[in-house]
Amino acid sequence: MTYAFTPTPLPTLPVKGTDKLFPIHRIYCVGRNYAEHTKEMGGDTKDPPFFFQKNADSARSDGKFPYPSNTSNVHFEVELVVALKSGGVNIKPEAAMSHVFGYGVGIDMTRRDLQDVAKKLARPWEVAKAFEDAAPCTALVPAESVKDSTKGAIWLDVNGQRKQTGDLNQMIWDIPNQIAFLSTLFELKAGDLIFTGTPAGVGAIKKGDVMRAHVDGVGDLEVAVI
Ligand code: MN
Repeated sequence: MTYAFTPTPLPTLPVKGTDKLFPIHRIYCVGRNYAEHTKEMGGDTKDPPFFFQKNADSARSDGKFPYPSNTSNVHFEVELVVALKSGGVNIKPEAAMSHVFGYGVGIDMTRRDLQDVAKKLARPWEVAKAFEDAAPCTALVPAESVKDSTKGAIWLDVNGQRKQTGDLNQMIWDIPNQIAFLSTLFELKAGDLIFTGTPAGVGAIKKGDVMRAHVDGVGDLEVAVI
């Protein structure tokens, strides 16, 4: 058997310091994993975090973010991205880190106006979260090159002005518990990316802005809004 037509190319991210590409399987995202961000979104910090998804081909690593259609309020959310080299179901937190391939710095771009409508009408979030180019991300840094993914500054500037600041140690669900919990809901696989939530300070961008996202020990992501 052959394909009925040429398949759409597999989405990938470069692997830093190598000539390899990381083939993306799925993109999972954690909502409200930093208490200060939960408060700014009007959420209750007693509610546990939750998951949603972007499309695998929402990822983009060339530093460009085309302003999307059907919105006038697009927000940045800087996040540590965890990339998996293996997966499974019902993974124990103690075993979770053995599945980690590496890390990236990503931005969970969000059509906030469409998300607000979706929340109000109890509709799904895809139009707000899973659109084209909605997941800018750096090349992935292999895990052995990242000293500590449990703490370190995470911030985002727009046009040189600091907008978001936090520390990885403020995550409500740490990385092992995110992997463990996700693996009770989905079968995790090699190639999965997890956007691990954003600290406070999210806000809107416009065409011509330049975002600079940073995570200590992982790197910097510069993205121009075009
Ligand atoms: Mn987010």
